[in-house]
Amino acid sequence: MRWAQRTGLVFGAIALASTLAAVLISWTALGAQFDNNVYDFLFRLQADATPARDVVVLAIDDRTLVERGGLRGLRRTLADVLNTLAAAPPKVVAIDVNLADTGGADDDAALSAAMARTRGLVLACEMFQDGSGWQDPPAPFRTYAEALGHVSTLPGPFDEINRRITLERVAGRQRRWALSLEAFRLSRNATEIDSSPTDVRVSALVIPSRWDEGRPMRVDYAGAGAIPQIAVRDLLARPQDKLPLMRGRVVFVGVTALSAIKDRLFTPLTPASMNLPMPGVEIHAQAFNTMSRGRFFVDTPLAVPVVVALVVSFAMAAAFFFLPGWPGYTLVAGLAVAAHAAPVLFFHAHHVLAPFAPVSAAWLSMMGCGVWQSLFVRRQLARSEHDRARYQQAFHFVAHELRTPLTAIQGSSELLSRYNMPDEKRKQLGEMINSESKRLARMITTFLDVERLSAGQMELRVVPFSAGELVESCLGRAAGLAERKKIRLESEIQAAAELSGDRELLEYALYNLITNAVKYSSSGTFVRIEVRRVGGRVEFAVQDQGIGMSQDEVKLLFRKFYRTQRAVQSGETGTGLGLSIVDQIVTHHGGRIQVRSELNRGSVFTMILPIVPVSRPREEGRDAR
Ligand code: ADP
Repeated sequence: MRWAQRTGLVFGAIALASTLAAVLISWTALGAQFDNNVYDFLFRLQADATPARDVVVLAIDDRTLVERGGLRGLRRTLADVLNTLAAAPPKVVAIDVNLADTGGADDDAALSAAMARTRGLVLACEMFQDGSGWQDPPAPFRTYAEALGHVSTLPGPFDEINRRITLERVAGRQRRWALSLEAFRLSRNATEIDSSPTDVRVSALVIPSRWDEGRPMRVDYAGAGAIPQIAVRDLLARPQDKLPLMRGRVVFVGVTALSAIKDRLFTPLTPASMNLPMPGVEIHAQAFNTMSRGRFFVDTPLAVPVVVALVVSFAMAAAFFFLPGWPGYTLVAGLAVAAHAAPVLFFHAHHVLAPFAPVSAAWLSMMGCGVWQSLFVRRQLARSEHDRARYQQAFHFVAHELRTPLTAIQGSSELLSRYNMPDEKRKQLGEMINSESKRLARMITTFLDVERLSAGQMELRVVPFSAGELVESCLGRAAGLAERKKIRLESEIQAAAELSGDRELLEYALYNLITNAVKYSSSGTFVRIEVRRVGGRVEFAVQDQGIGMSQDEVKLLFRKFYRTQRAVQSGETGTGLGLSIVDQIVTHHGGRIQVRSELNRGSVFTMILPIVPVSRPREEGRDAR
């Protein structure tokens, strides 16, 4: 249960970290660029070229400029345009030309006179770069204009593509609405533009546009050709053909000549429809057309992508945690698809949901949880499998090793109960039962200790002891076995080394080496135990003249259950577990085992132990062995 809780917490932490990372990156240039690109892509998919009903662009194009004296002749050209239009007349004429400077007196007079005849005139004004005020057209022009509109757009963020205009700008405490908005107001015969912190209203139209975001309005660019464009040169040359197109409409007049203008901007449509950025005058006409169509793309509040990212990440983590296997993976895939589809669905409802946070949170959460699951959860499973296997082996070991003393106890007790025998013999059998039961108890305790040691659950009970005494005690225990096989036990203790370590476990280890040496030797040979002190270490060498083994077999010796073929053929019983336990004990003491062996010549098993200083003698609570 605790493991499950921890796993759940880790999945939750991955989901949270994924969301945080995704949201933070979404606020950087990288995230914004991604959002922009997706917006442009979706925008191009849905853009239509339904012809605009009430707006026309009157373009002062390259040819017009060339034929009419370039920019110097601009005021005269505008005067001619207005005079010609007066015959239509349009409902609104919005002039996207900065007239703030004074021109030649004749030109200004001609333009003033033309403006005086024009109904619904909107003139452009630009902000001074420092924001201190407006570059308004000079007085005569102003008086004829029914409104002044600013011509600022809002590129980006983080690129030069124009997706939005700003409806309202303030400079030098003077507020100006956008040129397109003023044109729209006049086209609807409204006197006022109302605003609240969240929208702008003109007659019946409500444009969602937040004041705290700089009053943006996304321009719903219509495809190429949707807004009719007439060159001024054509209008002036053939007014009778062109004027009907402008009667009662809103006409945006501006320079589109490549050579003369600087306010061309890329739009989301640019890559698909044309390879040139769009002139400012056309952008204003498009903004007007957006208002005229009355449907607006609205940015969702900042919290929406954050919440979607959070929900998707946590749902993914929950799927990984609660639904293992295919149902979980299917749900995760579904959530990933949902994270990608959400911005598209929002877009179709004219809501702009910034996709970076949800999409990247989905990917991060999916990959994070997936990697964690495969790496760590699987590792946990493998570990518990391994534990199970280890306990199975342990069980076999216990069963096998316990059988020998049990058989002796069983046999002796049967003899005792069945037959009358002399006291001397009874005593012998009684002692045998006693010693074999002690052996049993010792084996069980040692075995449990080794299990706990290898599971990392037990500390060594470090006590000081003498190497000689350890050898003597092992030899004493092995004497009976050696005698039965007629093998001579010899020992040479070269140095009276004092060691520290878990004496019981080390005795188990050395005893195992000695009994192996006896088991795998034939009668008439000797087994020799030598204790040497080499530097900071003590070496216990157990040498025999037995069956030996090849070098390849030496390499496999410490594997659990491994037995050499000759050992199996020798008829000696064994489990192949003893040496692996010896190895664990010695390793836990910071030592190692060295094996030298030759087939049919014998082996030397050397247990090398460091002389560790006694850190914490702990003898209490030890079972009797
Ligand atoms: P067991 O003796 O119960 O089979 P061990 O783990 O103690 O298990 O030993 C593993 C194997 O190593 C033995 O089966 C035997 O093949 C080989 N072995 C161990 N000690 C000796 C030795 N002194 N001489 C020859 N072979 C040995």
